[in-house]
Amino acid sequence: MKIVLYLIATPIGNLADITFRAIEILKSCDYILCEDTRHSAILLNHYAIHKPLKSYHKFNESFRTESVLEDLESGKIICLISDAGTPGISDPGADLVKQCIERNLPLTALPGPCAAIQALICSGLPTERFQFWGFLTRKENELKREMQIILDYQGTTICYESPHRLLDTLKIIEIMQPQRLLTVGRELTKKFEETVRGTATALIAHWQNNLLKGEITLLISPSPSESHQDWSTWTPEEHVEWAQQTYTLNRKEAIKLVAELRGVPKRQVYQELIKK
Ligand code: SAM
Repeated sequence: MKIVLYLIATPIGNLADITFRAIEILKSCDYILCEDTRHSAILLNHYAIHKPLKSYHKFNESFRTESVLEDLESGKIICLISDAGTPGISDPGADLVKQCIERNLPLTALPGPCAAIQALICSGLPTERFQFWGFLTRKENELKREMQIILDYQGTTICYESPHRLLDTLKIIEIMQPQRLLTVGRELTKKFEETVRGTATALIAHWQNNLLKGEITLLISPSPSESHQDWSTWTPEEHVEWAQQTYTLNRKEAIKLVAELRGVPKRQVYQELIKK
């Protein structure tokens, strides 16, 4: 069956990072779906691709999908690109793919840049097992809980993070796992590209006197197996002792962390400890 939908990866910074095949398909399709038509016009004009552009972003995705599916059913060839990188990865695309599969509409993807993979392969961290976390939560309390899950994972974790929040996130990791190795890929493929490796403390020091800006991908090394624990059956006392040892915390910090991990007020953990 003839392919009707092409998901096409586009550059994450350097305009030259696009394949010949991607340009060929973009030039021959009926129209291109993109997040921001003005943004994508820069890339498309650079390669003399003059096809109609239609906006397809998280705010119009659900109502735009129906008309896109009708066009695909009528045999139109449509390309989906995002502002940068691979569509469907923290970008629109996954829902359209699901609906195409349900309607037996043939689709394929043209491989290319993806910040997560780019950062991973340059990180020096293990690549044989990894999880993609996407964007970390913006809520401070939830972030600590997310971090516990991430720090417990026995492979490398890849997160997208904003430059405004990175230092606060590093400070949380610094408390929870001061020894853990991290990598930050910043502005990958661009003029000011840098990959910085080290503990949270070292990374915080790296940006202490420089304004942190640009696009950031944060990688967290795998959990050492001795810190990988199921604490659901532990008493608060056992949990606090474990947190003190594993994360090199004093008793007060450990109680705070245990309260956050268990989703209960600090006061409740203190009371449980006093009871003993
Ligand atoms: N779909 C895209 C991909 O495949 O990489 C990701 C889109 S997501 C909305 C954008 C996030 O990806 C940024 O906030 C940043 O965390 C990460 N990112 C994108 N470009 C990057 C770059 N050049 N260097 C480092 N991280 C980047």
